Amino acid sequence: METTTRVAVIGGGVVGCSVLYHLTKLGWSDVMLLERSELTSGSTWHAAGGFHTLNGDTNMAALQGYTIRLYKELEEITGMSCGLHHVGGVTLADNQDRFDMLVAERAKHRFMGLETEIVGPEEIRQIAPVTNTDGIIGALYDPLDGHLDPSGTTHAYAKAARMGGATIETHCMVRETNQRADGTWDVVTDKGTIHAEHIVNAGGLWAREVGAMAGIYFPLHPMEHQYLVTEDVPEIVEIVDGGSEHPHVMDPAGESYLRQEGRGLCIGFYEQPCKPWAVDGTPWSFGHELLPDDFDKIEASIDFAYKRFPALERAGIKSVIHGPFTFAPDGNPLVGPVPGVRNYWSACGVMAGFSQGGGVGLMLAQWMIEGETERDTMAMDVARFGGWVTPGYTRPKVIENYQKRFSVAYPNEELPAARPLRQTPMYETFDAMGAVWGAQFGLEVPNYFAEGDEPRYETPSFRRSNAWEATKREVLAVRNAVGINETHNFGKYRVSGRRARAWLDEIMAGRIPQPGRLSLTPMLSPKGRLIGDFTVSCLSPTEFQLTASYGSQAYHSRWFEQNAMHGVRVDNVSDTLNGFQIAGPKAREVLQACTREDISTMKFMDVRRLTVGMVGCTVQRVSYTGDLGFEIFCHPMDQRSLWNALWEAGQPHGMRPFGMRAMMSLRLDKFFGSWMAEFSPDYTAAETGLDRFISFKKNADFIGRAAAEAERDKGVSRKLCAFEVDADDADVNAYEPIWLNGEVVGFCTSGGYSHFAEKSIAQGFVPVEQAREGLEVEIEILGQMRKARLITEWLFDADGARMRG
Ligand SMILES: Cc1cc2nc3c(=O)[nH]c(=O)nc-3n(C[C@H](O)[C@H](O)[C@H](O)COP(=O)(O)OP(=O)(O)OC[C@H]3O[C@@H](n4cnc5c(N)ncnc54)[C@H](O)[C@@H]3O)c2cc1C
Repeated sequence: METTTRVAVIGGGVVGCSVLYHLTKLGWSDVMLLERSELTSGSTWHAAGGFHTLNGDTNMAALQGYTIRLYKELEEITGMSCGLHHVGGVTLADNQDRFDMLVAERAKHRFMGLETEIVGPEEIRQIAPVTNTDGIIGALYDPLDGHLDPSGTTHAYAKAARMGGATIETHCMVRETNQRADGTWDVVTDKGTIHAEHIVNAGGLWAREVGAMAGIYFPLHPMEHQYLVTEDVPEIVEIVDGGSEHPHVMDPAGESYLRQEGRGLCIGFYEQPCKPWAVDGTPWSFGHELLPDDFDKIEASIDFAYKRFPALERAGIKSVIHGPFTFAPDGNPLVGPVPGVRNYWSACGVMAGFSQGGGVGLMLAQWMIEGETERDTMAMDVARFGGWVTPGYTRPKVIENYQKRFSVAYPNEELPAARPLRQTPMYETFDAMGAVWGAQFGLEVPNYFAEGDEPRYETPSFRRSNAWEATKREVLAVRNAVGINETHNFGKYRVSGRRARAWLDEIMAGRIPQPGRLSLTPMLSPKGRLIGDFTVSCLSPTEFQLTASYGSQAYHSRWFEQNAMHGVRVDNVSDTLNGFQIAGPKAREVLQACTREDISTMKFMDVRRLTVGMVGCTVQRVSYTGDLGFEIFCHPMDQRSLWNALWEAGQPHGMRPFGMRAMMSLRLDKFFGSWMAEFSPDYTAAETGLDRFISFKKNADFIGRAAAEAERDKGVSRKLCAFEVDADDADVNAYEPIWLNGEVVGFCTSGGYSHFAEKSIAQGFVPVEQAREGLEVEIEILGQMRKARLITEWLFDADGARMRG
C-alpha cells in the first residue's frame, strides 16, 4: 500500500467515489480512497437508485441536473453500465399550495435550462397510467428523472477515478486521523499509516465516527428508511411487453415515491412515524445487513398508496428493503472545508447520493484544487452551521426534515423543531410584546410583533401572509416616528493589532475608513465573486469592528482564518456584542435624550464611543432601513439597561419595536441588496453595483483585485435592477423569470411589498443593454405573468437627505 498521498478520501460509497473521480478529472492524480470493506458497504448498496432534479434550492437543483447528466459520460469513459433508466417522472399536486410550488419550480427551470413542464390530470394518466388522479390538480413532469444501478454506478465512478491515476484500498479501515504541526495528516489504518496532505470525510453512515477521530462534530443523523418491491404487476407487464417503461411518480400527499422495478413496482415512503437510527453512534459491525421489516410505521402510508396506485393492492410483495441513511438538519449535504481544521474536507450528510453525488464531488474537487467553486454552495456548505450545533439539536431537526421531505416548502415558513435554542436577554421582553419568532443560525429573531388578538403564528404561504398588517404598522412607525430592533442577528468581528489596517486592505476590496468613520465594502474571492458585504468601522488606528450577515459567521470566519496575517487578531464577537438599532425621523431625538454628548454633530457614517443611559456603547450612524438611524452596540450583560433607556426615551415619539419582515420591506424602498439574495458568490461586484464601493485607487493588492479590474475594463453582461411590479396577492420571492418580448432574459433575486410606497418591488438581473429606466418586462409569479417596470429612483428619501442629513 502507498504510504503518502495528496488526498485520503475516507469512504467508498457513491459520494467518496464521486469525489475521487472529480479530483482526478480536475487534475489531481495522487489521490487515494480508503474503504473499510468493499465499495458500497454503507447506505449505497441498498439505495433505490432513483434520481431527480427537483430541489427547493436553485443551486442544489442545478447540481442535481449536473449529476444526472454525468452518468452517460461515466458510462462512455469506463465502458461500464450504470444501469440507467431515463424514464422521466411526475410530481403530483393535490392542492393549490403544492401546485403553486411546482409552478414556481417550473418557472425557475426556464432559466436553468431544465426542460420540465406542468401537466394536467389527463396527461398524468397517459404518462403514468398506474396513477389514480382523483383529487389531483396537476403535476410537474421532468424528463430527466430516472433510476440506476447503485452498485454499478459507484463502481463506474471508481473505475473512472482509477483511470485518472487514483488508488483505491478496500478492506482498509481508518482507525485514527492525527494532524501534524504542518497541517498534514497521519491516517492510521489496519494496513499501516498513510501521510496525507488532505483528508476528505466521505464516511456516510459512519461520518460522525470518522469526524470524531479528528475531534469534529458533524451535524448529521441516520434515519431508517423502507421501500417495497412487488411481484409482477399486470399493468406494468403490459407496458414492458409494449417495449416501454413506466415513469417515476412522486406523490407528496402520500409521502411516497414509486417506480417500475422489472415487471413490477417499487415504492418507498417518508412516513410520519419515522425512526432515527443508531442515536449514539453507528456500530462498526454494521455492514451489508438490512434492518428488520417494520410495516407498522408505514401502515398509513401503504393504505394511502393503495388508493393512489390501485394496482399495488393486487400485487404481492417480493422484497422489503429497510436500511439507514444520513441527513443533515436541513436535508442538504455537508460539503467543503471544515471551519477551524486545516486540510480537512467534508463530503457527508448526502441523503440523495444518486441525485447529488456528482455535484458534491465536482464542487469539492473545485474547492480543493481551484480554491473556490464555480457557483454558490452555501446551501450545502458545512459552514452553514456554527459551533452551537449539537446532537441534541441535530436529531429533532433531522426527524422534522424527514417528516417534511414531501411537504410544501413555503418561503416564509419557520420550522418549529429544536427551538428555541439561542436567545438574547431581550427574548422575554419581546415575547411579552407579541413577537412572532423566526430562527437564524440557531438564534431566535422577531419576524414581527402581533397585537391584540392577532395570531402569534405567521401562516406559511406563497402569497401575502397574515403578517401584512403588523409589518405595515412597523414600517410606518419607522418612516413616521422611530422604530427599534436588536442588532443580535448581525455577524460581528473585532479586528485588532498593529497590522489590522493592512490586513483589512488586503481582505476587503473597499476603502478602509479613518478613525471615527465607517465604510461599506464588498469582500471578493480571487475570481472576483462576492463572498461578503461588510460594514467596516474604525474605532482606533489599531482596532476595527466589522458587521455582516449573522448566518455566514462560520463561512466568513473560515475565510479570515485561511487568510490570517501575523500581527492581526480577529475575534468573532457576534454573540458577545449586541444592542439595538433605532431608525426613523425621531431616532436622533431619542438617542440625544439618552446621552449627554452632543450627537447633532454626528454625521452619516460616523462611529463614536458614547455613554447611552448607563451603558458604554459603540454607536454608528447608519441603518439598513435607509432612514436616519443609529446602530448602538453594547455587551449583552448591559443590554437590558440600554433597552430601558432607549425605550423610555422613545415613548414620547411613538417608538415601536420592528422585526425582520418590516426590515426587509424598508430596505426595498432604497433597493438595498440582501446577502444571499442580491449579493452571493454567484454574482460579482460589478453585476450587483457593489463595484461602487471597490477602491481601485488604494495601494493594496486586495483579494480579487485582478478579476475586478478585468471586469471593470471588459464590462458585465447583466446588471442588477429594481422593478415595480403589478402584483396581485403574491410578490416576488426569488428566482422568478423575467420575460421580455416572449423570452426569458433574466431572473429575480428577491422582492416583496413596500408598505411605505404601497408598491410591489422586485430586484433581479437583466442583460446590461436592457437595463434602462422604464423598461417594461413581465415577471412570472406563481405561473401568472405580471407586468413590471424598471425603476431607478428610490421610493423613499430620493435625494438621501433624511438618511444623510
Ligand atoms: C432504503 C434506502 C433507499 C434509498 N434510495 C435512494 C434513492 O432512490 N436515490 C438516492 O439518491 N439515494 C437513495 N438513498 C440514499 C443513498 O443511499 C445515500 O444518499 C448514499 O448512499 C450516501 O452515500 P455515501 O457515500 O455518502 O455513504 P455510504 O454509502 O454510507 O458510504 C460510506 C462508506 O464509508 C466507509 N467507511 C466508513 N467509515 C470508514 C472508515 N473508518 N474507514 C474506511 N471506510 C469507512 C463505509 O464502509 C462505506 O462504504 C437511499 C437510502 C436508503 C437507506
